[in-house]
Amino acid sequence: MQENKRPNLLELKDICYSYHSLQGETNALSHISFGASLGEFLAVVGPSGCGKSTLLSIIAGLLEPESGTVSIQNPDGSMRRPRVGYMLQRDHLFEWRSVYRNVILGLEINHMLTEERLEGVNRLLKDYDLEKFREKRPSELSGGMRQRAALIRTLALEPELLLLDEPFSALDYQTRLTVSADICRLIRRTGKTVILITHDLAEAISLSDRVIVLSPRPARVKKELPIRLTLTDDSPLAARNAPEFSDYFNVLWKELNYESK
Ligand code: ADP
Repeated sequence: MQENKRPNLLELKDICYSYHSLQGETNALSHISFGASLGEFLAVVGPSGCGKSTLLSIIAGLLEPESGTVSIQNPDGSMRRPRVGYMLQRDHLFEWRSVYRNVILGLEINHMLTEERLEGVNRLLKDYDLEKFREKRPSELSGGMRQRAALIRTLALEPELLLLDEPFSALDYQTRLTVSADICRLIRRTGKTVILITHDLAEAISLSDRVIVLSPRPARVKKELPIRLTLTDDSPLAARNAPEFSDYFNVLWKELNYESK
């Protein structure tokens, strides 16, 4: 687990957002401020419907905040807007395309199909043990392999910031434990800055460097909890047996179950 000393890649300042419809106004986010440093793995937890996905859409630039600012610094210091990768609950792999044609889809759509990037995709397929399956259809893969394919599709675009919106929630519990550990180990290897949305407290503690707790809607930051676990090995499954794990779990449980004022 890293110390939080590096410069901030992402900075959210005083973000507010409401949805407006014929039924009226839904106030989703209220004065949200926090940052994420380069290479940091951040988990965001909060009650269902509090505004977590809205927050991620704002960070991704899909929604404009009503007030407040989102700044993402380019780690290479250039003026280019950093790329943001988004992984969702469902893998959205297309059955009519082979695994290979699925993982290069983002590059194809963004007109980024260069020889160098395709070499990068081939390297990822090899590293993530999917090379043998490149000509298969998604339905021929296990749930874990599908998530790995979805991750390669996201990483192929070389994002500086990775946004994960409950990417394991469609999997059954047993698969979820191994797949989340597997995917997070692979993501950590890339050194990317990550924001993971989850409603699973154990997942948040075992995977992240810091947990942001949101209040019920309209979401505001209730607590920021840095996670430091004494680990014998660096796997998220081992993290669940760390001596500090249950203390962190109790703190988060109380935060989420204590009526917000
Ligand atoms: P979470 O991800 O924490 O479950 P969301 O960000 O999806 O929460 O939603 C926050 C609130 O905004 C919810 O009450 C939801 O019903 C409402 N909401 C989400 N999307 C829309 C929309 N397009 N129009 C109106 N209300 C919406």
